[in-house]
Amino acid sequence: MTALLLENVHKSFGTVQVLKDIGLEVADGEFIVFVGPSGCGKSTLLRVIAGLEDVSAGRVSIGGRDVTATPPAKRGIAMVFQSYALYPHLDVEGNMALGLKQAGEDRKVIAERIAMATRMLSLEPYLKRRPSELSGGQRQRVAIGRAIVRKPDLFLFDEPLSNLDAALRMATRVEIARLHRELGASMIYVTHDQTEAMTLANRIVVLRDGRIEQVGSPMELYNDPANRFVAGFIGAPS
Ligand code: ADP
Ligand code: MG
Repeated sequence: MTALLLENVHKSFGTVQVLKDIGLEVADGEFIVFVGPSGCGKSTLLRVIAGLEDVSAGRVSIGGRDVTATPPAKRGIAMVFQSYALYPHLDVEGNMALGLKQAGEDRKVIAERIAMATRMLSLEPYLKRRPSELSGGQRQRVAIGRAIVRKPDLFLFDEPLSNLDAALRMATRVEIARLHRELGASMIYVTHDQTEAMTLANRIVVLRDGRIEQVGSPMELYNDPANRFVAGFIGAPS
């Protein structure tokens, strides 16, 4: 089955075209990484997939269902942001529970899901703490936990490790790779870090100025970059 299908997606803000004729098919369980320079449209494309921005033209389908006009909460996705976006007044447990409560899940299901995420991310010691009492790395694990409890078919990550130091970035990257294996869910991950792209991706999508420049496995892009721009991003000599 197809996890995500983008067909002729365009997005403009006023007269500025930010996404230009994007087409992409993501298979179930695939780990896709978007790379490209700052301002090329990576976050906008994620937000369009999430439904946080409407497309100007084109179609977005998730799990075989046209969601172009579907609000974010009904798309079966969960998004993790660079800034964590946790609720400061809620403890870790409350942060993970909120979205499920709003979706009307019953208490037993909420407790089971939180137990699962807590176990997967080793969050037991922190459940009663507020975000201000956590380190950056712990906050990002809570943000990932909040995504996991929703059991989305598609995870969207926007530079989730950018605010972490090098050691934590590596540890959290390994953790995300493990979650991908264990959950079997499809993931789309934005980064400007070449190591993250090369180690996490089944396929890398290189974006440039609102267009897809090349799509391929890390090895395909490394061995056979379409041009110097792609080579520059993937790190192979050109
Ligand atoms: P990236 O994530 O690759 O750095 P973005 O998707 O954030 O790029 O931004 C792509 C372009 O769209 C940038 O030129 C940015 O200024 C513009 N842009 C993004 N969001 C908005 C918005 N809400 N209104 C106007 N312009 C925007
Ligand atoms: Mg961005």
